[in-house]
Amino acid sequence: MSTVEHQPTEQAQNGAGGDGRIAVENPATGETIGHVPDMDSAQVSELVARARAAQPAWDTLGFEGRARVMYEMRKWMVDNRERIARTVMEETGKTREDAQLADVFTVADALGFWAKKGPKYLADERVRSHSPFVIGRKLVIRYRPLGVVGVIGPWNYPIANCFGDAIPALVAGDTVVLKPSEVTPLSSVLMEEGMLASGMPADVMLVATGRGATGAALVDAADMIMFTGSTGTGKKIMAQAAETLTPVSLELGGKDPMVVLRDADLERAANTAVHWGMSNGGQICQAVERVYVEEPVYDEFVQKVVDKTKTLRQGKPEGPGSVDVGAVTFAPQLELIERHIRDAVDKGAEVLVGGKQGDGPGRFFQPTVLRNVDHTMQIMTEETFGPTLPIMKVRDADEAVTLANDSRYGLNSSVFTRDTAKGEELARRLTAGNACVNDCVINYAATELPFGGTGESGLGVRHGPQGIRKYCGVQSLLVTRFGPKREAYMLPYKGSTSRLLDRVSALMYGRVPRRFRRSS
Ligand code: NAD
Repeated sequence: MSTVEHQPTEQAQNGAGGDGRIAVENPATGETIGHVPDMDSAQVSELVARARAAQPAWDTLGFEGRARVMYEMRKWMVDNRERIARTVMEETGKTREDAQLADVFTVADALGFWAKKGPKYLADERVRSHSPFVIGRKLVIRYRPLGVVGVIGPWNYPIANCFGDAIPALVAGDTVVLKPSEVTPLSSVLMEEGMLASGMPADVMLVATGRGATGAALVDAADMIMFTGSTGTGKKIMAQAAETLTPVSLELGGKDPMVVLRDADLERAANTAVHWGMSNGGQICQAVERVYVEEPVYDEFVQKVVDKTKTLRQGKPEGPGSVDVGAVTFAPQLELIERHIRDAVDKGAEVLVGGKQGDGPGRFFQPTVLRNVDHTMQIMTEETFGPTLPIMKVRDADEAVTLANDSRYGLNSSVFTRDTAKGEELARRLTAGNACVNDCVINYAATELPFGGTGESGLGVRHGPQGIRKYCGVQSLLVTRFGPKREAYMLPYKGSTSRLLDRVSALMYGRVPRRFRRSS
């Protein structure tokens, strides 16, 4: 791979169309492929008002009626898969396979998943209470839609992390205003077209194109915000939402560690590291961003990763299987990746493969492997979001866990060992929202498993029961069918009330259960 310096145009850097529109660029070619409006707060308020007016009828349609739209949309996505994949490829510069897997397959799967599971996860729950005060009452936990959900998404998965998060909200009976990244808005516009073609009533899902200010206007106007993006923006959104006590769910950045123990299947570990470090150009929130390998197998593991990385093909994505690693979607990211590598090299790291920008005319960064890295370097502590694999030698498993947990992030994580019991024990010690043994990232495909971050990787989860309940308010119902004219605890208080409370409290709470008693 020879190196061609690529200077992004001013337009590509700030996305400005110069006429109140945003120009969308193909990062793999540098060409402008479309324009979208840069909506202001009045336009966002208008979209939210329309979505709010459409919500009661959408809710009344019931799970069955909403599921019909979801299954129609799934079919539409399959019928239009070539057009969808091409749109995603063009505005991100990612490979065909990266687009097919995450932005077509995963989202088509999610449509059926939520259509089927939504009614179960949101079904009324009857509960029995331990309290003597409510004996005989009907007690129900009920989930009801919040209203208009604002979904704000990033550029790395323009369908999966934008429209993908709208799906459970829509199934729950909310309407949605979707604010895609200004870098990759065309995919969301296409999804709106697909939903309308699939029988979605007007105004149930609307797309608000624009930059950060458009997103901020949505935070003010919507009833709940589902945000996926950087930690910095997530903090701003949470602070802004606090003004109106608007609930937020935040899926933020990561610096995901992989731990490789001396007894690991090194071939599998190396293949997994290369795939989940380099695919999608490393622009995955849960990419393998740093690797810790036990000393006895360090050299062998590094060699395997280097050999595999050298075979990767990079360039403008064309037909099936044409390239392995696509473009850098967001122009400023190139500089950040270079800065991390420069900082690491200045502090003693060694670049074994790559390390530079790739061939143009588009924006590429060569798949890069580094060794002799440590935690004084940004590449081991800050999110790089590029095709980089820094690999650090560790003494033993305990040191690996300590270093893996030495991070402000906590999204995904992994341990590789043939001793799966030990692997699970170590995985449970990792302070990350998700942990895999002998696997990486693929837990995301298990839509039944909640996926979310700890620390600065986020708040709340997508997937699993909580992944749809977050789009609902909880209403607790208590129904009394047969009640006396006057309960014993009611006013006016009498001496008998006091004596009753006294006796009942002594009877119920006056002793420590036998197995919790202090031995004296
Ligand atoms: P970003 O934070 O720059 O932008 C995300 C979205 O927020 C965009 O639509 C942007 O226009 C909007 N925005 C910007 N400022 C805003 C404001 N003040 N108020 C409201 N909206 C605002 O993130 P990005 O660069 O587009 O995405 C990359 C980041 O996303 C990485 O950090 C990556 O790890 C993270 N990410 C996380 C997950 C996850 O599931 N945890 C998934 C994908 C990406």
